[in-house]
Amino acid sequence: MADSLGQKWKNREFNLSSVSNLSSDASSASPGIARFTSDGLQIQSESQQIPLNFDLQTAQIFKLGSVQSVCIMEGSDVSKTASYSTGVTIQFKNEEECEAFHSAVQQWIKEVNVQGNLPNGTLATSKSKFDEKIEPSSAKMYFHYYGQLLHQQNMLQDYVRTGTYYAAVMENRADFTGRVVVDVGAGSGILSLFAAQAGAKHVYAVEASEMAEYARKLIAGNPKLAQRITVIKGRVEDVELPEKADILISEPMGTLLVNERMLESYVIARDRFLTPTGKMFPGVGRIHMAPFTDEYLFIEIANKALFWQQQNYYGVDLTPLHGTAFQGYFSQPVVDAFDPRLLIAPPMFHVLDFTKMKEEELYEIDIPLRFIASVGTRVHGLACWFDVLFNGSTVQRWLTTAPGSPTTHWYQLRCVLSQPIYVMAGQEITGRLHLIAHNAQSYTIYLTLSAKMWGPGAEQGGILQTSSCKLDLKEPYYRMSQPQAYPLAQDQQPQPLVQTQDIHIQNQELEEPEILQQPSPNSCAQIDSLIQNI
Ligand code: SAH
Repeated sequence: MADSLGQKWKNREFNLSSVSNLSSDASSASPGIARFTSDGLQIQSESQQIPLNFDLQTAQIFKLGSVQSVCIMEGSDVSKTASYSTGVTIQFKNEEECEAFHSAVQQWIKEVNVQGNLPNGTLATSKSKFDEKIEPSSAKMYFHYYGQLLHQQNMLQDYVRTGTYYAAVMENRADFTGRVVVDVGAGSGILSLFAAQAGAKHVYAVEASEMAEYARKLIAGNPKLAQRITVIKGRVEDVELPEKADILISEPMGTLLVNERMLESYVIARDRFLTPTGKMFPGVGRIHMAPFTDEYLFIEIANKALFWQQQNYYGVDLTPLHGTAFQGYFSQPVVDAFDPRLLIAPPMFHVLDFTKMKEEELYEIDIPLRFIASVGTRVHGLACWFDVLFNGSTVQRWLTTAPGSPTTHWYQLRCVLSQPIYVMAGQEITGRLHLIAHNAQSYTIYLTLSAKMWGPGAEQGGILQTSSCKLDLKEPYYRMSQPQAYPLAQDQQPQPLVQTQDIHIQNQELEEPEILQQPSPNSCAQIDSLIQNI
C-alpha cells in the first residue's frame, strides 16, 4: 500500500459499544474499537488482548440492524486440515457512527483498488468508478429519467438557471474562443451549443442517457455549430476522449447542491480530461444554511400522521403505527420556496471547490453549525440553499437558489425537527449538519441543533436543549403546489428578518460576500402576490 494511503487511514477509529465473537457465547461481549489500518480493519475488544485483523479485500461485512453489523473472514490457512473462519458482531453507539463506518469500509476498498497496490501484486480495476459506488437499479432509473425530453425541458425552462449559464459563457468568450471544451452530462446538448456559440474550437458533449441521441439531433439541426461538437454517449467515468480539455462546463447540481452525486462525476471528469491549468464552469459551490421558524410547516407535517391516530378505522385500531408514521414524515426534507423572513439568524456557508477537491471528500460532508438568533422564537429546523460561481476571466457570475431570489427548479430545502427548540434574541445556536452519501445517488442527512439556556439557572444546571433528526435527501416532500402566505404581524418590519441577497453581484470576492441592504423587488412582488392570494 502506498505510504500516503497508509497514513491517511492510520487514525481512523470507531468506538464500539460492544464486540462479541460469533464462536463464543454472547456474555463474552465487551466494548472495543474498530481501527482502519493500511492492511485492513482491526477489531479490538477490551476483554481480548489480541486484536482480530480483517483483510477488507476478502472479508464480508453486513449490517444486521441500524447500529449493529457483522464482520466475517474466511479461514485461509491451507496448510491446516481444518481452517476456521472468524466472525464478530459489533455494535455502534448510534446509527450515524454505523453508517460512517460502512462508508469508510467502502472508501477503503475503493482507494486500495484505485491505487491497485495489494500485497500480492497489482489489482486490475475493471469495474467503473461509477459502478463501485452506485446501485445498478438507482442508476437505471436515474438515466431513464434524464433520457426523457420532458425532464430536460423542465431544466431548459428554468430561465434563471439556463439564462445564467448563457450569460456566464457569453460574457467570458475569452475562456471559450479557440478552446477545447468538455460538457460533462450534456443532456439536450444546450451547454455545448452555448460553448460553440462562444467560439469553442471543439466541444465534446458527454451524456450517459438516451438523451445523447436527441442531443445529436438538436446539434445537427444547428449546422453552423454542429461541426465543432461531438456527442459521446457514455459515462464520464468510462469514456475516452481524443484530447485534453481547456475548460469543463457542466450543470451537476442537485437539491442541496450534492443530491444525485453528480458532483463526483464532475470531479472525476476534471481528473480525467482537464489540463492542469484548465478552467471549470462552475468552479465553486456553496451550501448556505440558517435556522428558521415556520409554525405552519411544522403543523402541516405533524398533522399528516394524524390519520394513524384513528382507533376505529373500519374496526381497526391504527394507533400502533402512529409513531412510525410521525417519524417518517419528519424524515423527509421539505422542498419549496419560502419567505426569507422565516430565517431567524444570519446564514453561514460551506464551500466546495470543484477545482481542487478530491472526489472522496464528497462521500461524507460534515459541517459544524453556529448561529446567533436575531429574534426570540421557536426554531423548527435548518433551511439550506446553494449557489455556484462561474469564475470567468472577464466576469464572475453567481447562480443562486437563495430564498427571496428569483425561484429556480431547485427551490430551497428545509430539514424540520420533530422537536423544535426555543431561543432568545442574541442566543447562540450550535449544531452539526452531517451528510453521508449512499449508493442510491443521494445522502442521509443527520442534523443536530442545540441552544444553551441562559440566566442563573442555566449556569448552574447547564441546561441544553438539543434536537436531532435523520432525513433521506432522496425522498423529499415537494411542497411547491400550495404557496404558503405569511402575512406581516403588526410589529414586524417590512424588511426580511435576515438578508440573504448576497449573491447577485458580479466581480464579487469569494471570501467576503457583499450583502445588499435592500430586499430584491422580486421577493417583495412574490410576497405581495402571496398575501393577495389568501
Ligand atoms: N447539461 C444539461 C443537462 C444537465 S442535467 C443542461 O444543462 O441542460 C445532468 C445530465 O448529466 C443528465 O442528462 C444526466 O443524464 C447526465 N449525467 C449524469 N451523470 C453522468 C455521468 N456520470 N456521465 C455522463 N452523463 C451523466
